[in-house]
Amino acid sequence: MTRLLVFSDLDGTLLDHHTYSFQPAIQAFQALKTLSIPCILNTSKTYAELIQLRTKLGHQDPFIVENGAAIYLPKHLGLPIDDSLEDHGDFWLKSFGPNRQALIDIIDDCKARYRFQGFHDMQWQDVVDLTGLSEANAKLAMQREFTEPMVWQDSTIALSQLNQELEIKGVQVQKGGRFTHLMGKNCDKARAMLWLSERYQSHYKEAVTTMALGDGENDIGMLSKADIAVVIRSPVHAPLEIPNRNDAWLTDAYGPEGWAQAIDKALSKQGIL
Ligand SMILES: [Mg+2]
Repeated sequence: MTRLLVFSDLDGTLLDHHTYSFQPAIQAFQALKTLSIPCILNTSKTYAELIQLRTKLGHQDPFIVENGAAIYLPKHLGLPIDDSLEDHGDFWLKSFGPNRQALIDIIDDCKARYRFQGFHDMQWQDVVDLTGLSEANAKLAMQREFTEPMVWQDSTIALSQLNQELEIKGVQVQKGGRFTHLMGKNCDKARAMLWLSERYQSHYKEAVTTMALGDGENDIGMLSKADIAVVIRSPVHAPLEIPNRNDAWLTDAYGPEGWAQAIDKALSKQGIL
């Protein structure tokens, strides 16, 4: 038996798509904690949003922010560190791309040639109007460190031109639901998951089994690279398809209820429950 590591998306996965509640998952979440199985949050959310959410959840494990752009490792865990980590108060910070100001400087140079509006050009009220978030949550979502969301107002062809132009600068543009995201070329949820798994492996001095849970397009990479891939059923779209993974689990229930089902199943397969 190997050590289990859980990597979980938040919105639509651990948190209910509509209400953001994690109530149905609490028991399973606590079971992981009791068994000292790390539950790593892997999300498009920011550090500021995570700090608030972790208090509500009682979460003490590492977390990955802004779609794999950076990992925060709580210092108290004593995971092995190296020169690539920065000191960030209670955390060690591992980042995989340029910081946001560098991205803004790069995109500002492109302003004359493409039509778009970035978060740095917006007020919190604009973000509230675009997302339906509350004022407080919009302000937390705007505290980005490694990615810059934009409202793309130009053509798809122009977008792929911009992508080509930025590639040599180590930057990529990714089309999301509401926003188009500017971020480092090497940032993705899967890469961050694998980097952290290696850390745990050398910490434990034994093999680890990775389990990834997600419901959205930006989780496909993470699920396809995990040992156990769990597709969380969504109330708003068809279940994700993970290429070449017939072994992926699909939960019966939606969001956090499905999350709890999958964790229970994994624990009983490991002979723990
Ligand atoms: Mg999601």
